Amino acid sequence: MQKSKDPDVKARRKLWITIAVSTVVVLILALIEALAPFEHLLPAQSFPMRKEGEARVHFVSVGQGDCTIVEFSDGACLVVDAGDGSYLADNTVYRYLKGLKPKELIVVATHADIDHCGGIADILRNFHVTKLYLPVLGSQNGFYDEMLSVARSRNVPMQTLTRYDCISRETGEYAVCISPHKTDEKVKNTSSAVLYVHAGGVNFLLLADVTAEREQQLAAEYAVDETIFDSEGHSVRLDNTQVVKVAHHGSNTSSSEELLSLLGAQVGIISCGEGNLYRHPAGDALGRLEQYITDTFRLDELGGLTVTAQGGTFTIGKTEELS
Ligand SMILES: [Zn+2]
Repeated sequence: MQKSKDPDVKARRKLWITIAVSTVVVLILALIEALAPFEHLLPAQSFPMRKEGEARVHFVSVGQGDCTIVEFSDGACLVVDAGDGSYLADNTVYRYLKGLKPKELIVVATHADIDHCGGIADILRNFHVTKLYLPVLGSQNGFYDEMLSVARSRNVPMQTLTRYDCISRETGEYAVCISPHKTDEKVKNTSSAVLYVHAGGVNFLLLADVTAEREQQLAAEYAVDETIFDSEGHSVRLDNTQVVKVAHHGSNTSSSEELLSLLGAQVGIISCGEGNLYRHPAGDALGRLEQYITDTFRLDELGGLTVTAQGGTFTIGKTEELS
């Protein structure tokens, strides 16, 4: 076969190849955009204006994982975990924060499991975070390294969170870390940061993924001295807990009788994914929750829930239906 040596034919062929390659690239980008719209184009989650002195705690439905956003009455937000970094979880958290427009944004990674801090890098990339609290045990995983590297590249101050550390607001609201201790921690779940939050006059306990053993230890310490977890003049009264985000997605190895009976909370929240592989929440844990907590709600059944707190009383409802 004789090849064409005509320079015009060669040039035309080159042009057609360039056009074809460009078209394919444009089509691929359009497909990516259609399947995964760029986050900044996502609509904000809509929230009604907060009333004076009102705080809200949003239990965000991120599938099998955890994300709680404490919205203090001064407009600052404390994000405790941010889901697993999946497309759906990231977008949900992004839409919440876009809608809340936090006056200040503080983020806590309770422990280095992907279902809790896989989505934090995305928050750091898209919002101005004033402080990032890290767990006592880090991780070698890619998502954890990515979170650290994005935080470093944006000069976000970082601090390891341990017992007695306190995040406080001028409104008198606060979050106190009651577990873990700084030393002797070897297991990620056990060493999860547990936060006692006082917002809108209501007391919340966020148990991350702690095990029954740690729950029992906290209950025993508190039984000996109820001031043991107080920090910087901010009291922690476990037996006045009104809302508890139960530990470890409602697994059977948490939600111990010792802690639940001490709390006597009105509301329990279970954060887990619909049809999750771990079969959370476990039947036995649900039984204990039913025995000691007035009402328990599941995010896999209801979607995101918001507790609105003011002057020590609160209401709970679906975030989508806030008015
Ligand atoms: Zn978890």
